[in-house]
Amino acid sequence: MRVRPPLSPTLLRPVLLALALAHATTAGAAEQSAAFSEQETLRHFQSLVRIESTDPPGSEIAVTEYLTRVLQAEGIEVETYALPDQPQRPNLVARLRGNGSKRPLLLMAHQDTVNVDAARWAFPPFSATRDSGWIYGRGTLDDKDNLTASLVTILALKRSGVVLDRDVIFLAESGEEGAFHVGIKYMVANHYDAIDAEFCLAEGGSVRRVNGRAESVGIGTTEKLPRALSLTARGIAGHGSVPLQSNAIVRLSRAITRVADWQPPVRLSDTTTSYFAQLARTASDPASRARYQAVLNPQSADAAAAIAYFRQQEPATAAILSSTISPTLVEAGYRINVIPSETSATLDTRLLPDEDETTFLAAVTAVVDDPSVEVAWVPRDDASGASSPLNTEAYRTIERLYAAAYQAPVLPLTGTGATDSRFLRAKGMQCYGVGPGIDEEDAPLGYGAHSDQERILESELQRFVKTYYDIVVALAAP
Ligand SMILES: [Zn+2]
Repeated sequence: MRVRPPLSPTLLRPVLLALALAHATTAGAAEQSAAFSEQETLRHFQSLVRIESTDPPGSEIAVTEYLTRVLQAEGIEVETYALPDQPQRPNLVARLRGNGSKRPLLLMAHQDTVNVDAARWAFPPFSATRDSGWIYGRGTLDDKDNLTASLVTILALKRSGVVLDRDVIFLAESGEEGAFHVGIKYMVANHYDAIDAEFCLAEGGSVRRVNGRAESVGIGTTEKLPRALSLTARGIAGHGSVPLQSNAIVRLSRAITRVADWQPPVRLSDTTTSYFAQLARTASDPASRARYQAVLNPQSADAAAAIAYFRQQEPATAAILSSTISPTLVEAGYRINVIPSETSATLDTRLLPDEDETTFLAAVTAVVDDPSVEVAWVPRDDASGASSPLNTEAYRTIERLYAAAYQAPVLPLTGTGATDSRFLRAKGMQCYGVGPGIDEEDAPLGYGAHSDQERILESELQRFVKTYYDIVVALAAP
């Protein structure tokens, strides 16, 4: 999946740009990027988009074969790892060896994409057509941009012959779009030695562009954990002609409403504290600045008003403040004249990484406050949570080089969706989500990741790949 850019409804003030730039320089970046050409980036990107690798059904092997060919042609050794009964879904690992003075850096991207409805595309979805500055195709934003960036980076590093302080590992994984057992889960459980690293770069970040200008850079440092709760309401079955106070549909409706109206406890992390503190300084509109400031002290009366505002007007902001619940599935009733004895709802539940599941279940049960409604966890995803700190060499380097390349303030992001980085963070790896510039106006037009169509600005692809390379050089070969 692809995480959305940081959402701020207001323009950031120029003063912050000056601050961000004071720590940055672009001269080194331009020099380092000479190890590969824009033509090379474009060639690999178009080639990768042109290889269909939709999931389901899931067959990434043609992508793996392309990567293998390209890497081996430059003398880079490649290993592939696949479940024995899923040979068409391999995970590719390539490693450039360093002198071992630092622990490795992992570059991760996924080879699969979501599906397409070809009839909805102006250009064929696997054509990688260039038109008016855009490149069209499934995967252009998710995740063949990161796949290209990591491929070009490892090729260029090898070619440059530079002595590395640490191994640089490239992982092109399968199954990210819903089949983790063939991809990251398989690798973590069976071949973690092959990918173990101190830091990881992966999807989960992006640059928010408004009116053609980079407004802010979002670096993914943590994400919510997808879970599922069920509500099961029971009552007495009966004829619809005689209303019953015990009607299970009525009980379920009441329970759903209570849960949906509930604001789970707000709790800030280092990531959200830094995020809101920066917005409190830089949002152009005073009312927005006041709200971001208020929420930094979550127990205050001002915070309560701000949170209520976010729930109405900025739901993506509200969603990073607490664990959340969205009712998404309801099963109730089977014919017009029967009051059913049992009904149920499933709730899409997204936990803060440090949430305690037992405590949270007890809290939801108390909110429902009805012994005829059972609240329970149902199986969904078992990855545990962790956040990657902001005071690491990797985060500071990413922050500095993105600020230089995009001349915009850099904010740490809490992903409300999930990426494969959570499996690595759970192992103690510090993972940072990075991505290209995306026009805020483009997703509502239907061109976003997972949308009817998908496209990337060619200039933003190039800028992203260069920035990515510069980050890796700074971390592995300073
Ligand atoms: Zn993705």
